[in-house]
Amino acid sequence: MDALINLAYLAASALFILGLKGLSHPRTAVRGNFLGALGMLVAIIATLFDRHIIEAGMSGLIFIMAGMLVGSLVGAVLAIKVHMTAMPQMVALLNGFGGIASVLVAGAALTDANPQTTTLQLTVATAASGLIGGVTFWGSLVAFDKLQEWVLPGHPIHFPAQQWLNVVLGLVAVGLTVVIVRDPSTLWAYWVLVAVASVLGVLLTIPIGGADMPVAIALLNSYSGLAAAATGFVLNNSVLIIAGSLVGASGIILTQIMCRAMNRSLFNVLSGAIGPEAAGSLKADDVYKGKIKSASAEDVAMLFDAASRVVIVPGYGLAVAQAQHAVSDLANLLESKGIEVEFAIHPVAGRMPGHMNVLLAEADVAYDKLKEMDEINSSFEQTDVVLVIGANDVVNPLARTDPTSPIAGMPILDVDKARTVVVVKRSLSPGFAGIPNPLFALDKTLMFFKDGKDAVVQLIAAVKAG
Ligand code: NDP
Repeated sequence: MDALINLAYLAASALFILGLKGLSHPRTAVRGNFLGALGMLVAIIATLFDRHIIEAGMSGLIFIMAGMLVGSLVGAVLAIKVHMTAMPQMVALLNGFGGIASVLVAGAALTDANPQTTTLQLTVATAASGLIGGVTFWGSLVAFDKLQEWVLPGHPIHFPAQQWLNVVLGLVAVGLTVVIVRDPSTLWAYWVLVAVASVLGVLLTIPIGGADMPVAIALLNSYSGLAAAATGFVLNNSVLIIAGSLVGASGIILTQIMCRAMNRSLFNVLSGAIGPEAAGSLKADDVYKGKIKSASAEDVAMLFDAASRVVIVPGYGLAVAQAQHAVSDLANLLESKGIEVEFAIHPVAGRMPGHMNVLLAEADVAYDKLKEMDEINSSFEQTDVVLVIGANDVVNPLARTDPTSPIAGMPILDVDKARTVVVVKRSLSPGFAGIPNPLFALDKTLMFFKDGKDAVVQLIAAVKAG
């Protein structure tokens, strides 16, 4: 039976890897997701035939089934109900549950273990599960709360000697690990380690600004994978080690991609050094006073009339306004009039990786119309009209020109090189970085102040009437 279980675990691991590969492109993402879920099903079924579970008898099995039923129901309801803009919170919760599961499973294994026969691998892995799992669980709960703004404020929270306290707690955690490794019967040390890790999880996450939280969540995702891999060593379970390592590695790669796209170091993100507190040297009044030109839907429709190429730049405001279907309709309408239409996708537009791709895919915009920043940037000079909808930081030329700006050096979409720029947003409020945007004050820019969806609906009507 053990050989069969291991074979099933191997198949599950292969499905996880194929699933991840599928997730690397929107066209294959749904299949990738399905393969990953199938891998998980295979792993769960194989685990139910594990010797320990069979020995636990019917009562143990009923307990497991009840847990799976409740978990599946809660998961299904959440997955159906959660809004796309709340996806980072949802992922934070899932990471947190992964972390606490590792803590509890490793704790149970240590309780069951015979101190005379425990190996170094078991004790080190148990301590790692408790430490990383505890940090992940509490860090994820704080991340969830900051994004949801229930208890904690969204902005970074700092207090004196914060870093020192973290260092002290880290040293205490190392000390407790040594105690557990030297004497595995010291169960108290494990639970104190979990408590210390929990405090550390909270302290490491509170200095991160709410809007930076998706980066932290990618990192916590990686931690939850590492905790699961450590628990895999505790249980000697190969599929848990492989799946945990895959999550750990992909989470850290994603964290790195997001930091690079924002041109910030991970340390900078984790210490909360961005947001309204780091708003650069420019004042909004200096940038905008007397230079802003407003336009109506009819004005923009006239621009479209004379255009042969239009590029649409979606941003966070498109997600807030839920304007994706209207934008898709507008693109189809413009194409039916012989205008070439493409979408320019910045890697950190919105509030989570792939945010714009997911939104536009939901509205059935063809994948080949979505152009990544590097691919489309050289074509803005040949573009008649750029329609920016709810994007701000990702089109802010200050990234190129102001070294004091919090987004200095961040690669941006060069929309200011197009012939005309139309910006749809509700006001002159800044985006996530909290800085003014000189793009709005350019001679070639027209501001269409409106909610993203209302604006696009009006644009469609105006183009049809024209
Ligand atoms: P921004 O946050 O820069 O700007 C969004 C703009 O949308 C605001 O200026 C707001 O202006 C406008 N807006 C909000 N609601 C609406 C609405 N209903 N209708 C129309 N407009 C609306 O968004 P970007 O996408 O340009 O940039 C993303 C930022 O988030 C970057 O700084 C990035 O670094 C950061 N970030 C991204 C992450 C990711 O993974 N994608 C993760 C973490 C951070 P107004 O209120 O005037 O309408």
